[in-house]
Amino acid sequence: MDKIQTLQQYIDESQRIVFFGGAGVSTESGIKDFRGVDGLYHQKYKYNPETILSHSFFLSHTDDFFEFYQDKIVQPTLHAKPNAAHYKLAQLEQVGKLTAVVTQNIDGLHQLAGSRNVLELHGTIHRNYCTKCGQQYPLEAVSQAEGIPRCQCGGILKPDVVLYEEPLDETVISKTVQAISQADLLIVGGTSLTVYPAASFLDFYQGNRLVVINLNVTSYDDKAALTINGKIGEVLDQIKL
Ligand code: NAD
Ligand code: ZN
Repeated sequence: MDKIQTLQQYIDESQRIVFFGGAGVSTESGIKDFRGVDGLYHQKYKYNPETILSHSFFLSHTDDFFEFYQDKIVQPTLHAKPNAAHYKLAQLEQVGKLTAVVTQNIDGLHQLAGSRNVLELHGTIHRNYCTKCGQQYPLEAVSQAEGIPRCQCGGILKPDVVLYEEPLDETVISKTVQAISQADLLIVGGTSLTVYPAASFLDFYQGNRLVVINLNVTSYDDKAALTINGKIGEVLDQIKL
């Protein structure tokens, strides 16, 4: 039996599927990942993305932070559309087979494709708030700003994304742990599994059907019942409901 058929059988036999994904889920929508071959780490910047997207850098180099954030994250996402992976996951939820999408992505494409229970471990670019008065702002307040986006009160806006050095949201963590520990099938895709604590939540899975779909090898391949080396959109597109 080929690997796609095995995945199809796993999905057919499951009722509480959880999908756990990362930046690789959105590359087929035209948004670059960090660590893939064309990813942002392979480009030349004054600082690497991990430095720029850190809490201390946001405070100390706010203008450089927003230059990178605007060019590399916000603007490419504004025009991005969900791909076959996002749509198939939304459909699996609609037919009652998938309980949650856990994502490290901040682009909002799962919701755009129709997914409802999306646990955004690293927050979202779609929420922003004033660091001085707390006023909430939509993405447009950042995407249309020139330079540092500011509140009417003069305070600097901060995207509600989890920067390096910042803790994850407790509510999102507990929902993630609950969903994964109750899953009968855990599909992991498009993530290097190198960002912690996000990757550590996979350890709460108690079933014996871990599936990893990635373009390259990950540190969880050994634990997987099935590994598929391929593009996640092309793989999930072949799954029938
Ligand atoms: P990563 O860049 O570390 O790893 C992406 C992985 O996906 C790589 O192993 C790559 O080989 C694989 N990949 C790329 N395209 C793929 C495809 N079409 N099909 C299957 N696999 C594919 O990403 P990460 O593990 O998510 O960690 C990076 C961090 O950066 C995360 O915290 C995330 O929040 C953030 N990030 C988010 C976005 C986004 O929101 N779209 C984009 C870049 C980075
Ligand atoms: Zn304000």
